[in-house]
Amino acid sequence: MTADSPRPTLVLVYQRTSLPWVFESAERAGIDLVLVPRPDEAVSADRLPPAVVDLLRLDVEGDPAGALDALRRRHEANAFQGVVTLYDPAVPFVAEAAELLGLPGIGRDAALGAQDKRVMRERLAAAGLNVPGFVRLDDPADWEKAARLAFPVVVKPAHGFSSLGVTKAETPQSLKSVVDEVWQTSANKLGRTDGLVVEEYLDGPEFAVESLAHGGDVRVLAIGYKGDPQGPHFEEGVYRAPATLPDAVQESVRREVVAAHRALGITDGPTHTELRLRGGETPYLLEMGARIGGSGVSHYIASGVTGIDFAAQALRIAAGTATEPLGSGPSPTPVAAAANYIVPCGGSGRITAIHGLAELRDDPRVDHVVQMLFPGDVVRPYPDFTGYPAFVLSRHADTAEAEEFHRFLEQSIRIDYTDDTDDTDDTVDTDDTDHEGQA
Ligand code: ADP
Repeated sequence: MTADSPRPTLVLVYQRTSLPWVFESAERAGIDLVLVPRPDEAVSADRLPPAVVDLLRLDVEGDPAGALDALRRRHEANAFQGVVTLYDPAVPFVAEAAELLGLPGIGRDAALGAQDKRVMRERLAAAGLNVPGFVRLDDPADWEKAARLAFPVVVKPAHGFSSLGVTKAETPQSLKSVVDEVWQTSANKLGRTDGLVVEEYLDGPEFAVESLAHGGDVRVLAIGYKGDPQGPHFEEGVYRAPATLPDAVQESVRREVVAAHRALGITDGPTHTELRLRGGETPYLLEMGARIGGSGVSHYIASGVTGIDFAAQALRIAAGTATEPLGSGPSPTPVAAAANYIVPCGGSGRITAIHGLAELRDDPRVDHVVQMLFPGDVVRPYPDFTGYPAFVLSRHADTAEAEEFHRFLEQSIRIDYTDDTDDTDDTVDTDDTDHEGQA
């Protein structure tokens, strides 16, 4: 940033251009973006999303050292003010790059705690926060170490995202085969064989929490309901905010989330936290991502509920230009409700038709229909498949209306399949649009 070019520039790593929110927020915030496209996405230089001024191709996952070097050279030749990502697996890379280049960021150590579920559990437990009984497994042959836990348990890859491989084991007798299966999924789909976590099943509804941290102050912006999935696999479904919870429970959620930022050392930037309310009232974190969740869906939800441009604030923090103090008081009073409905696959095979989706584009409640799967795509059964057919993002006067709308979508959207899946080339890729992914 110079006197002649006062606009800050951020390098945005691995953001899909089909998900528009972060690009639109950058434009509103007057921030230029250098986009590092996802290797599997064809982005053409003459049709860039808003705010993108340049493309920089880096192989962040395949060659992180080469990518860091290329970023350093780009910074030396043409300095940028920060580096940011909404893609969970790239959070450690971004933290490392920012640290090496002296740019704002959470630092490598905090990124490790937010990304590695073993480290996260250890750090939350050391800080005295609510943590289920858990065991880390560095080798599947050690599965018996986890048999002492109270069953049911959940087995998950230490570095997973999008619920990939996450599987419930009901009894100690089924533990070995579940551990073997999750290890295989982790190796095949995440390309990692460096460990699992086994933890006690938290019985209770699930919530997502969107927060912003700046200089160590943490502001919880929105708490939303994420359903009550029982397993054995944990496909994401709904996200409706603000959650209708008693004030005292909301306050304990806020306290737990703020304390988790401290325990994990996350002082700056957006976070997306997922938690369960054990017994309906005691918050236990499932995970805290040091990024905007769901590739931007969390921005849609948090800004819809609060009227605050969540992604713009996050980008200003990443660029070191945030000036407004966040305050650490109660969450902003909700101004409306916002919701995401993740269309369930409802089967597997080759998609022949998707009913009930196209007409939603004209529904006044619907802002976006983000379609990821189309007729002709092949959906494989769990645990092989984790992509989602579509998101329906909508706004409502209150959460009760959002619930009613989701009941309507459950009835009206249907996917037809044929079992002709000979051509394996069409298998759908894993995506991080959880809702990150959610969140
Ligand atoms: P990922 O990062 O792959 O999404 P999570 O740890 O968030 O992995 O787990 C994915 C989902 O699995 C959660 O959203 C939740 O529904 C379920 N889950 C994970 N751990 C537990 C647990 N200990 N108790 C109950 N459900 C769990």
